Amino acid sequence: MKAKVLSVFLLATVLLMTGCRNDIDKQSQVMSGEGNPVVYASIYPMYDFAKNIGKDKIDLRMVVPAGAEPHDWEPTAKVMVQMEEADVFIYNGVGMETWADNIFTTLANDKLIIVEASRGIDLLKFHGHEHDKEHEEQDEEHDEGGHHHGEYDPHVWLDPIRAIKQAENIKDALIQADESNRDFYEANYQEFADKLKALDARYKEALSNVKRKEIVVAHAAFGYIADRYGLEQIPVSGLNPQEEPSAAKLVQITQLLREKDIKYVFFETLTSPKLSEVLANEVGARTAVLNPIGGLTQEEIDAGKDYITVMEENLETLKAVLGE
Ligand SMILES: [Zn+2]
Repeated sequence: MKAKVLSVFLLATVLLMTGCRNDIDKQSQVMSGEGNPVVYASIYPMYDFAKNIGKDKIDLRMVVPAGAEPHDWEPTAKVMVQMEEADVFIYNGVGMETWADNIFTTLANDKLIIVEASRGIDLLKFHGHEHDKEHEEQDEEHDEGGHHHGEYDPHVWLDPIRAIKQAENIKDALIQADESNRDFYEANYQEFADKLKALDARYKEALSNVKRKEIVVAHAAFGYIADRYGLEQIPVSGLNPQEEPSAAKLVQITQLLREKDIKYVFFETLTSPKLSEVLANEVGARTAVLNPIGGLTQEEIDAGKDYITVMEENLETLKAVLGE
């Protein structure tokens, strides 16, 4: 209901404001001599990857602002209007940006290069229940065709190897928008890909011999890390942190915490830690942050943190918690 009202409002605003402003803005851009492509990245990890590749040769903006929880977030009318002038729009896809379809149907920007960073990447499915054979078999039938529904895990960026492919997709789009700087983007991409490979090697080495494999996390954001490095994710909420777990689910997790003598329950920086604290208190466990990097807070950004440094923080946390 709310979303519908908003999209009608957006459409009206965009129609009102684009008709006469297009030409003026284009002229002023040319006159000011700023030829950098205007690039919008939907969420923080897309912004970070684009920044590493485009550096000072792109005019980069992030749609979901710092400190906002990215699931279920909707762009403001102002952003929609500004995106009429964008050259590139980068989004993660796999249903992460529920508002992306609205952008494609609303914008009248026909020069816009749209890049779904997760395109061509081997995706994981999320099942509400781990090891649920019956569901897995049912899902097999739906394997072919589209992959843009809630059943696939959108947190692709948390796997450094899949992140390399996302970065490559972003690099290709920047080259398409700005062929004259092809070598610059290629070189930056190569350098960033090497950093991601090194990150993967550190994860592999550190997590191959930990004592514990279970991570109890606030929402199911860590499926790709669990899959890549042989961990077992036990999420309190599902793929979306706004989904409240049922009482039965909480009882089940409490039992699991006791059974496996799990010492830590993780929480996130952009959602309330309350549920994790209650669960931890219930069984005498502690809490720690495991950051899904869907968004950083302004404080984290001001402190110079980025995708790689937060991934390293997460690794230090995992080493400490799983080594106990
Ligand atoms: Zn998430």
